[in-house]
Amino acid sequence: MYTIYFDMDGTIADLYGVADWLPRLRAEDATPYTDAAPMVDTTEFQLLLAILQNRGYKLGIISWLAKDSSNSYKKAVTKAKRDWLTETFPEIMFDEMHFVQYGTRKDYVAKDKNGIIFDDDERVREKWRGKAINPNIEDIIEKLRLIKEMSE
Ligand SMILES: [Mg+2]
Repeated sequence: MYTIYFDMDGTIADLYGVADWLPRLRAEDATPYTDAAPMVDTTEFQLLLAILQNRGYKLGIISWLAKDSSNSYKKAVTKAKRDWLTETFPEIMFDEMHFVQYGTRKDYVAKDKNGIIFDDDERVREKWRGKAINPNIEDIIEKLRLIKEMSE
């Protein structure tokens, strides 16, 4: 069974909607990551993922850390991202979580090389070997419902 991977920033976490997110990141402030609003209906998202996980799908997060950052900021951002996931989706137990250097090839870190990825970054989608979905074009909840229907 496939693993369904999610990017965070711009895919499920509205980092770019946080006021002054870029200067704050440059100042190595990790709070924009915890302040980000979810970009999916959290109830529906958790419900669909629980069903899919029950049917054998695995769930993963692959998220880049901030560009050109110090080691201490990388640690702070990793913690902020983990905290955000726990608080936003308390019901979900992800099977894989990777918080990696900005620009890392996501297909290199994924355990399931033929998995499905939701990612707003074209560079990631182009290199991905499995199915890559652009969340700006296809609604995440709708797509998860389709995957669920196909697994029935
Ligand atoms: Mg992104």
